Order: sequence, then structure tokens, then C-alpha cells
Amino acid sequence: MTQAFTVAIDGPAAAGKGTISRAVAARFGFAHLDTGALYRAVGVKGGDPVAAAQGLTPEDLARDDLRSLEAGQAASRVAVIPEVRAALLAFQRRFARQPGGAVLDGRDIGTVICPEAEVKLYVTASAEVRAHRRWLEVGGDAARVLAEVQERDARDMGRADAPLRPAPDAFEIDTSDLSIEAAIAAAIARVEAARKA
Ligand code: C5P
Repeated sequence: MTQAFTVAIDGPAAAGKGTISRAVAARFGFAHLDTGALYRAVGVKGGDPVAAAQGLTPEDLARDDLRSLEAGQAASRVAVIPEVRAALLAFQRRFARQPGGAVLDGRDIGTVICPEAEVKLYVTASAEVRAHRRWLEVGGDAARVLAEVQERDARDMGRADAPLRPAPDAFEIDTSDLSIEAAIAAAIARVEAARKA
């Protein structure tokens, strides 16, 4: 496939977006961008976040501390700054419309970055289920992990610029009671249907 084909996968923290995105990308041979990593890299870099976003380097994205709870919190704090979001926009749009297809996961892919995406998925789950999954990943105090997930949800959904919400034409996958295999199968079926359309 030489034309653009974008799969936009949005949803709250630890809903399963990353796993589903990687599986969809591998199944169809699409490129994949974890857009949360951009905000995490800006958040952990320190200094002026706008300058950090404007000067983001591949080394910043390769740091091994990007998945920590602290990096997630730092990301959602810098993600409310419109100039930070603006600095990351063109790169994400180019990535989304590259020839050969792309999967992007984040919070605003279907609403702001690529409203013309051929497939839009909104992957969600209850806060308790998501916190439990994140706790399996990072360990530590389970109550603190739940509080962190809820705090980040509130900040991501409540911000003025590009708040987390499903695009009107997004297909929702609630993974609270779904196995990861079933969630991946639902996502792949959606992409297959859109490719045939
Ligand atoms: O998805 P992940 O947990 O890595 O995202 C970290 C934070 O980055 C989110 O809580 C959100 O504040 C921000 N983010 C965003 N827009 C995106 C992706 C992530 O605002 N497209």
C-alpha cells in the first residue's frame, strides 16, 4: 500500500492502547508511534517545556525512565501547555499520513492530530482495572498507582487544549472484561473492514 492509511487509537492511561497499537501495526505492516512518549520525554527533560518540545531529539525518546509513574505525571503536566502541543503537532501529522500506513496512539489523535484517520478507536477500561494493570508493570503501593491514574485522567480530560475524549466517529473498545487477544481481534476487524470499504 503506498497511500496514507491512519489508525488513530486514543484512550486513558493503561487501557491497553500500546499493546493493541503494536499488534495492529505488526499485522498490517504499518509504522507505529507512541505519542505519549513524546510528552513523557518533554516532561522528564526538565527546564522550559516549550523549548524541550521544540528541540526534542531521538536520544530524549530513547531514555529508559520514560515509563515510570513520575514520567507519566510530568507528561500530563506539560501536555496542558498549548505551545508544547503545537510544537509536537507537525511531526505527528507527517507520521500519520506517511505512505504505507501508520498507527498512532495517544489522547488526541482522532480529534486533533488526524481527524481524517480512516480508523478511529477509543480504548478504555475502568480506572480500577487500569490501575491494576499499571501496578503489575511498575509495582509499589497499589493505592498510590490508582490515585495516579485518576489524577492523570482528570488532568487529561479536563484540560482546555485537546482534552481526552472520543472522536464522534470513534469505535469504542472497553477492555475492562476483555482479554488482550479479544481486544486486539476487535481492533484488527475494524481495520480490515475499513480497508475493504
Ligand atoms: O499514553 P501515556 O501514558 O504514555 O501518556 C502520558 C501523558 O502524555 C498522558 O497522560 C497525557 O497527558 C499526555 N499525552 C497527550 N496527548 C497524547 C499522548 C499523551 O496529552 N497524544
